[in-house]
Amino acid sequence: MATIRAVFRTSARSRPTIGTLAQRNSPSCCRWMSRKHPKGFVKPVQEDLDEIRERTREFARREIPENVARKTDQDNEFPMDLWQKMGEAGLLGITADEDYGGLAMGYQAHCIVMEELSRASGSIGLSYAAHSQLCVNQLMLNGNDDQKQRFLPDLISGQKIGGLAMSEHSAGSDVVSMKMQAKEVDGGYLLSGQKFWITNGPDAHTIIVYAKTEPTAGSKGITAFIIDTSVKGFSCTRKLDKLGMRGSNTGELVFDDVFVPRENVLGEINKGVRVLMEGLDLERLVLSAGPLGLMQAALDVTLPYVHERHQFGQPIALNQFLQGKLADMYTKYKASSGFTYSVAAEIDSNPENPLIKTQECAGAILYAAERATECSMDAIQCMGGMGYMNEVAAGRIMRDAKLYEIGAGTSEIRRMVIGRAFNKEFLR
Ligand SMILES: Cc1cc2nc3c(=O)[nH]c(=O)nc-3n(C[C@H](O)[C@H](O)[C@H](O)COP(=O)(O)OP(=O)(O)OC[C@H]3O[C@@H](n4cnc5c(N)ncnc54)[C@H](O)[C@@H]3O)c2cc1C
Repeated sequence: MATIRAVFRTSARSRPTIGTLAQRNSPSCCRWMSRKHPKGFVKPVQEDLDEIRERTREFARREIPENVARKTDQDNEFPMDLWQKMGEAGLLGITADEDYGGLAMGYQAHCIVMEELSRASGSIGLSYAAHSQLCVNQLMLNGNDDQKQRFLPDLISGQKIGGLAMSEHSAGSDVVSMKMQAKEVDGGYLLSGQKFWITNGPDAHTIIVYAKTEPTAGSKGITAFIIDTSVKGFSCTRKLDKLGMRGSNTGELVFDDVFVPRENVLGEINKGVRVLMEGLDLERLVLSAGPLGLMQAALDVTLPYVHERHQFGQPIALNQFLQGKLADMYTKYKASSGFTYSVAAEIDSNPENPLIKTQECAGAILYAAERATECSMDAIQCMGGMGYMNEVAAGRIMRDAKLYEIGAGTSEIRRMVIGRAFNKEFLR
């Protein structure tokens, strides 16, 4: 069976690329460096997107069947062999350049993979996104050639695991108030402080970390660093015990004078907030596909059950109260899916100068996340007593879905940034 990598690396090469070499060497090539898409990216046609969905579904059916998803949740342990399998299948570098082993595809493809993996297991989907979007895509967007050469191939092949650490115990929604400091020393920086709630933190080899290089300068004094976690002074002191997303390992990280060489500064000194904010919009978009997968999963468990389960001498699905719930679940999924993929398609449509609107990316995840929690609650209700049993997936889906109203910015903060985007437009 051909892997996604085999299908898409070949087809990408045979598709026309954007910009000739001459164009890339012209002055306008500077935009190439700041683009949000990989080198040679061509907006995928529907056939490509259908193909990537089918291939990811096949992968998930084979590698993440329900017993694997249930065990991941019950044991609160990520199935570590999956990293290499996802790497071999080509899933870990969807938005990365082919030069580093990526597939040079865009955000529609990344959302599709995220949705299908989350449909199989919410927590595997979340860890996938922390690796492939928060770490790999952030390195693609902000890394220099040397950094990409050093870090991306191993992350994309699944040899190494990635994450991103900005939150601290006292700096969540107000992340810019972070306390971690980076003091300049000969040849680099010494990082000290802690990070909290870091997805993949207990397992990661490469983490993008934000720290204050100019503590009195507020948001203008933050810098992003690439950390190799084998370095002296770094430790993951605690794996956190969570309500849901169990198996997506979340950690508390401690940095005790961790030396980071100057060549591992990501972007410019004191310009970390730019790296952070630019990444956040795309992060919200790709993460919005997580709740889509969970809504699909809620329908996957509910629809067969309500047609098989008989009460009062007939399938419970013939009851109009339940038909109403099923219709709501389906409609919420379709509306959320339409929102997410229309934003992703717009960003993929203009790779030279993509229009990334904060209100659209924040809106997509705000809407999908809240709908996913509602759908998962409806799934439990439709299944009655069985819905409440841990032997069926409905409860796990509900616990996983709730995270998307909190992680990567809460629903309240998403509403706030959407409101502020309007203020910016109208209060000039
Ligand atoms: C499972 C999990 C994985 C995570 N993974 C990562 C990761 O990989 N990397 C990382 O850096 N972080 C990660 N986080 C952290 C996450 O981004 C934060 O938890 C989130 O931003 C919320 O911050 P907080 O928990 O400090 O909540 P708080 O900021 O304390 O908020 C508490 C409540 O107050 C509300 N609130 C706060 N300020 C306002 C305001 N101005 N207006 C209205 N309401 C407000 C919030 O909406 C929320 O309801 C993860 C969190 C979880 C739970």
